[in-house]
Amino acid sequence: PATLQFNQVSYQYGSDTLAVDDINLLIKPGNLVVLVGPSGCGKSTLLKLVAGLIQPTWGTLLLDGTDVASLPPQQRQVGWVPQSYALFDHLSVADNIAFGLRMQGVSRKKRRQRTENLLELCHIQALAKRAVNELSGGQRQRVAIARALAVQPRVLLLDEPLAALDPQLRSSLRSNLVALLRETGVTTLFVTHDQAEALAIADKIAVLQDGRVAQYGNPETLWNQP
Ligand code: ADP
Ligand code: ADP
Repeated sequence: PATLQFNQVSYQYGSDTLAVDDINLLIKPGNLVVLVGPSGCGKSTLLKLVAGLIQPTWGTLLLDGTDVASLPPQQRQVGWVPQSYALFDHLSVADNIAFGLRMQGVSRKKRRQRTENLLELCHIQALAKRAVNELSGGQRQRVAIARALAVQPRVLLLDEPLAALDPQLRSSLRSNLVALLRETGVTTLFVTHDQAEALAIADKIAVLQDGRVAQYGNPETLWNQP
C-alpha cells in the first residue's frame, strides 16, 4: 500500500466552480480514510483526482512521494469501485475479476491463480462461473471489489459502496467489507454521506465542506466533543 499526499490541491470546473479548495492531507499506507459531507462538497471530484481522470488545477498529488502528474493513469495502480459497480453483466464473475489482468497482459496461469485468491478472499468462490446479472446487490459489490483489487492497487477508491444495497443488508455487509479491506491492507478512500457509517469504519475521517477539509481526525475524537 502507498502513502497518498494532497499538497495544496485545488480543482476548478470551468472558470468559476471551485469544487476542491486547497486540500492538504497525508494518508498513511493501509489507512482507511472516509470522506464525508453533503452532496456537492467535492467528494467525487477528490476521487477523480486520485484516479487521474482529472488533474489538479493547482497543487500536487503524491503517491509514495512521486507526483502523480508524471504517471499515466494505468501506472498509478489506483483501484476504483464506482457507485454503480460498472460490472460487465454478460461476463462471469471470474472473468469480471480477471478483466484488468487480461488488459495488462498477465499470463493465463497467473490470472487464474490471482482470480482464485480473490474469489476466496471475497467469499465468492461458489459464484465463479455465474453471470454477474444473476447476482444479488451484495454479491455484485463483492465482485466489484475483487475486480478492483485484482490489479493490486496501491490505493483503492470506494464511492458510496453500500448505497446500492438494501438498508437491512447494509450493516452486515459493511462489516464484511471492512474486514476484507483490513485483510488486504490497501490504502483506501471511502466516500459516504452517512456520518454513522463513517464513525463505524474509519481510521480517519475527513469532513468536507464546500471543497475544503472542515475537520480531520479519528472517529473517537471527531464528533464526541461536547
Ligand atoms: P460530491 O461528490 O460531494 O457530491 P462533487 O465533487 O460531485 O461533490 O461536486 C463538487 C462541486 O463541483 C459541486 O458544486 C458540483 O456542482 C460541481 N461539479 C461537479 N462536477 C462538475 C462538472 N462536471 N462540471 C461543473 N461542475 C461540476
Ligand atoms: P481464457 O481467458 O484464455 O479464455 P480461461 O478460460 O482459463 O482463459 O479463463 C478466463 C479468465 O478467467 C482467466 O483470466 C482466469 O484467470 C479466470 N477464470 C475463469 N474461470 C475461473 C475460475 N473458476 N476460477 C478462477 N479463475 C477463473
